[in-house]
Amino acid sequence: MASSAACIFCKIVKGDIPSFKLFESDKVFAFLDINPLSKGHALVIPKHHGAKLTDIPDDSLAELLPVVKKLVLATGAEDYNVLQNNGRIAHQEVDHVHFHMIPKPNEKEGLGIAWPQQKTDMDGLKALLADIKSKM
Ligand code: AMP
Ligand code: ZN
Repeated sequence: MASSAACIFCKIVKGDIPSFKLFESDKVFAFLDINPLSKGHALVIPKHHGAKLTDIPDDSLAELLPVVKKLVLATGAEDYNVLQNNGRIAHQEVDHVHFHMIPKPNEKEGLGIAWPQQKTDMDGLKALLADIKSKM
C-alpha cells in the first residue's frame, strides 16, 4: 500500500501520531477533524497515499463514500456537506486525499459556501460537452 513517510495522514493511519479514530478497514480510515467546522466534522481517507483524487486507485475510491454515509447516519446529521479539496487554490492543506463530512446544524456552523455562478450560453455548453466526452 503506497504511503509517504512525510505525510501527516499516513502517520495517523500507521498510529505514529494520534487521532480520534472512528472507523478502519483494509483500505479506509476515518477520524474526527481536529479543527471542526461543526460537531461531528470527520475525515474519511484512503490508506493508499495520494495527494489528489486522480492519484487514488478506483478500488480504494469505491470504499470511501459508503464510510462517509456510515458517519452521516452515526452522527445523526440531517443536513451536511461532503467536501473533497484538490490543490492549494482549491483549499487543500493536507496532501493526502480526504473527504470531509461536515454536519450543517444551522446557518452559522458547518461549511459556508461561496457559489459564484457564471453566465454561459447553450452553444458554449454544447461545445464543452463535446470536448469533455471526447476525452472520457
Ligand atoms: P483540507 O483543507 O481539505 O486539506 O483539510 C485538511 C483538514 O485536516 C483540516 O480540516 C484540518 O483541521 C484537518 N487536520 C489537519 N491535521 C489534522 C490532525 N492531525 N488530526 C485531525 N485533523 C487534522
Ligand atoms: Zn499520506
